[in-house]
Amino acid sequence: MSQESPRFRAVLENFAPYQPGRRVAAPDGRSHKLSSNESPFGPLPSVAQVIAQAALDVNRYPDNGATALTDAIAQRFRVPPEHIAVGCGSVGVTQQLLEAVGEPDAEVLYAWRSFEAYPTLAGLSSAVAVTVPLRDETHDLPAMADAITRRTRLIFVCNPNNPTGTVVHADELEEFLDRVPADTLVVLDEAYAEYVRDPQVPGGMAVYRDRPNVAVLRTFSKAYGLAGLRVGFMVAHPPVAAAVRKTMLPFAVNAIAQAAAIASLAAEPELLERVDAVVKERSRVRDELLAQGWSVPPTEANFVWLRLGEDTQDFAAVSARAGVAVRPFGAEGARISIGDHDANDEFLAVARAYPRRH
Ligand SMILES: *Cc1c(COP(=O)(O)O)cnc(C)c1O
Repeated sequence: MSQESPRFRAVLENFAPYQPGRRVAAPDGRSHKLSSNESPFGPLPSVAQVIAQAALDVNRYPDNGATALTDAIAQRFRVPPEHIAVGCGSVGVTQQLLEAVGEPDAEVLYAWRSFEAYPTLAGLSSAVAVTVPLRDETHDLPAMADAITRRTRLIFVCNPNNPTGTVVHADELEEFLDRVPADTLVVLDEAYAEYVRDPQVPGGMAVYRDRPNVAVLRTFSKAYGLAGLRVGFMVAHPPVAAAVRKTMLPFAVNAIAQAAAIASLAAEPELLERVDAVVKERSRVRDELLAQGWSVPPTEANFVWLRLGEDTQDFAAVSARAGVAVRPFGAEGARISIGDHDANDEFLAVARAYPRRH
């Protein structure tokens, strides 16, 4: 038998396997999952009903063009349907974008640390990833503009940034966009847009209108509570939307997800009340952490960031023993999602008891 093994792309050797947010349990069974930025609320009854109904048609392929969903998004956000492209979560749309621009001499630029999907999907697309370190836990837009070359095809601006929760403001973003060449695409990843309360944070849907090289990513996974169904979308000018539709895996958004997303847009006022509740809890959690003596960057998302350095993995292990799953990143820090009141209290108790070196 040959000793040779099947051959794979060298880029795969750089990838750690994807680490999903873990579920943990305390010895007494208590378990709070604060590791994936999910909504702590189950589906609304109106949405659950639509999901059950859509399940009866799963012998049929979904509408590959997601026409009804695209029209519902177009109406809700007052954008033309030709400006919309959907995908299997906004991670799916991110992959479609990178497949549309990635080739060996193309560069993809983003801040680091930011969303974990960027390096993996950029690598898979064959593009070269170029990163610019965060400054004070926030995108350093002037440094990012300095890092643009003729090869830069796509730039991610994650606003609010995952995992730090920090934001860029309208004036700095406009200044940055003015420095980006017209043939370089800027992707505003707004997965947490519904949680933003800072009035100086720009809405991508307004920013992209006069800028053919700006695209906006949104998702039904967070505020709309459909993380398990995988549906996200992009809003951008027609050439960008058309390119992203070409790279979609056929039938990437299943029929149940399409129906649930439409129902969620119809139930938006109810869902946004839930977002308000999470935002209230976010303030409570951050204020309490500050009172405990932690430094916590201001957050406009549904999570907080603790820069724990060398203590990061230990903090995650201590949290896990208390039944609280958090998301540790190497020796950098941990991201903790805002959950329901009880979950947040459990996390705050862990933080209160934890010896502080930061
Ligand atoms: C959660 C998240 C997404 C959304 O992912 P889905 O694939 O839509 O579930 C996108 N971008 C960022 C920065 C996120 O944190």
